[in-house]
Parts: sequence; C-alpha cells; structure tokens
Amino acid sequence: MSEHLMNTYKPLPVRFERGEGACLFDGEGRRYLDALSGIAVCGLGHAHPEIGEALCRQARQLLHTSNLYHIEQQERLADELCAIAGMERVFFSNSGAEANEAALKMARLHGHERGIDTPQVIVCEGSFHGRTMATLTATGNRRIQAGFEPLVPGFLRAPYDDLDALRTIAENSPNVVAVLVEPVLGEGGVRIPGEQYLPRLRQLCDEHGWLMMLDEIQTGMGRTGHWFACQRAGIRPDVMTLAKGLGNGVPIGACLARGAAADIFKPGNHGSTFGGNPLVCSAARTVLQVIERDGLVERADRLGTRMLADFRQQLDGEEGIRSIRGLGLMLGIELEQPCAVLMERALERGLLINVTAERVLRLLPPLILSDAEADEIVSTVSELVKEFVAGSPA
Ligand SMILES: *Cc1c(COP(=O)(O)O)cnc(C)c1O
Repeated sequence: MSEHLMNTYKPLPVRFERGEGACLFDGEGRRYLDALSGIAVCGLGHAHPEIGEALCRQARQLLHTSNLYHIEQQERLADELCAIAGMERVFFSNSGAEANEAALKMARLHGHERGIDTPQVIVCEGSFHGRTMATLTATGNRRIQAGFEPLVPGFLRAPYDDLDALRTIAENSPNVVAVLVEPVLGEGGVRIPGEQYLPRLRQLCDEHGWLMMLDEIQTGMGRTGHWFACQRAGIRPDVMTLAKGLGNGVPIGACLARGAAADIFKPGNHGSTFGGNPLVCSAARTVLQVIERDGLVERADRLGTRMLADFRQQLDGEEGIRSIRGLGLMLGIELEQPCAVLMERALERGLLINVTAERVLRLLPPLILSDAEADEIVSTVSELVKEFVAGSPA
C-alpha cells in the first residue's frame, strides 16, 4: 500500500505480476482465472503476443506526434472501425468518459444548429457513462453524483427500457436533441432491454430528429456476441461510443458518427493532445485484426450462450437468486441480497469476478477463454453462489 495514492478505490488484497491468456499470477506465482478482463478491457486476454509485438514495433518507430499532423495509424484505424461498425467518421479519445463527452458536445452543437438554445439530452436511470462532470451527470446513479453539485444542466432522465416514458418526454419537451443509452446496462447490473427497445428507440429518434447515441463502451468489440450490441437489434445509431475492449488495455476511446452527425464537428470544436496517437491506434488495429481472424465475436456468442445455459442448469430454482441473464460474454446473476463479499471469496479461490449494482454478480471474461476455463468459471461461481444463498460463510 502507498499512502501517496488518492483514496479513490478500495482494492482487493492482491497484486498481479504477470498475465497469460485468461490468467493472472501474483508475486507468489499463484494463478487466478480472470472472469472480468479488467472490466471488459482485455478481450484478447493478458500478454497477447501480437498486441505486445505491435506496441513494441510502434514504440520503436513513433509514439506521438500530435493531431496537428496527419497520423497514418489513426487514419487506417478510423477506416477499419467505420467498415466494421457501419459508421462514417471517428473522433479518438483516451477513455470512455471522453468518448461520451465528445458525443454530448456533438448533441449540443446539433441543437444549436437547429436553433435550440438550451438543448437537452435524454439519459436513463441506472446507466453509467463516466466520471467527468458531464458524464457523471448523464449517469443514472445518485451515488456517483452526490457531492459534485452543481451538476451539468441539459439532461432529462427516463427509466431504462421504457418507451412510453420517452414518448411522454417527446410530447412535452421540444428542446430534446439526443438520447444517450447503453444497449445493455453494464455497471447498472447487466440489464438487457426487451428486443423491441432499440428498434423502437431508433424510430422515435427518426420521428423527432433526435440523435440516437449508443454508449457501447462496455458492450462493443465483440463482448455481446456481435461486434456491437446494436447489430443484434439490426439498427445503427447516429453516434456510437467505444473504449474498454478497443485497446485491450491501452487507453483509447472513440466516438463514431454517421449521416448528419458525422459532419457536426468542425476544426476548433473539439480535440485531444493524446487522442488517437500512433501507439494506441496500432494496438487497436491489432485488436480488430485478431478478433476478426480468430472469429472471437462468434466465439463470444457460442461460449456465452453455453455458459448461460450451464448457469441456469446449476442455479435455476435456487432460493435467493432473482435472475440469471447474459448476452454473449456479458453475464449477470442477480441475487436477493447485496453480495459484494463474493468478490473476496472468489479471489480466495483464484477467480476474479465483479459485483455491481450491489447484488448482481457480473462476469466479463476475455473472448479468448477456453472451454475448460469457461467450465471452471461456471462451477466455481455456482458453488460460491450456492454457499452464499445458503448463508454459510465460504
Ligand atoms: C466504463 C464505462 C464508461 C466510462 O469509461 P472510462 O474509460 O472509465 O471513462 C462509460 N460508459 C460505459 C457503458 C462504461 O461501461
């Protein structure tokens, strides 16, 4: 422990020294199976040789020049990402929150262009969009906002997965210019909306000239068994934000846009010193290549479906479990009781998991997980949950 770190996190009692695939190892060489991937970041697992190689090669050649000049790696990455996502233009940031900041700034410019002086963005209860002032305001969790008032004006909040609430807002709020929504609530507890939510939201946005802005920071990059979760719904947003799995651990975020939204920003409107530098873009390009070449999107779909079925077989009907849900390798087991203690109990058994929204055990394993590792996660987690709901200490 260092006294010199700001007191923002309460880390679990472990320090990892190295990683390999879906595993991490501490200083004593003890193995931990990683069912969290650094919160959906390391989709290709740890110490992936091709990511290491790309980073070393790029670091020896050129790390940073600035966006005052053309950047080859950034241009190629933008082309490749747009081709996969069906989008037209990208702004590169260094984190998810910054990608959402870019989206929110675009929404405001879009409003002003339409003669709306006090534009409003609809956001959802239970959502998470980041920790900057605008993104914590957009976040639908009072605990993340408390103490940071005054919050940023210009947001309207609606319950998640509730189209009627959005229709009511549409009737009463002429200054709405955009909605910012997660296709699945991540931090909010792996909440998967009804199948019609995103397609209907797309329609509603078209009817009212709102920008449909999807926060795919956690759901993107193959996580849900599609490259992007919106593809499951068969729709394209006007704006899509990415980060987490895009760099496999290298800090990079992206705000993608298409149609009119792609032309909102003009020179001088937005920027970032580090954003899209050669190093991070070479890593992200390698991530895209490996996911594509190794069929990891399909793998996430197949393996996630199997794990979900296995969990249901193990845990369905157990008392104390409210629901078992998942989309690809984004899995949640909601208990009746707060269960944060499960993170420590899993750690003691050499497994890394997360608990979010107080009572949702969340799994975000790497897409390169083997079948045997998937089985190991299912059996260890099922045991932990059974013991927990039976009330016996692990
Ligand atoms: C993690 C996350 C963010 C914030 O990303 P940072 O890189 O931590 O700023 C925003 N939205 C969603 C959906 C996330 O999961």
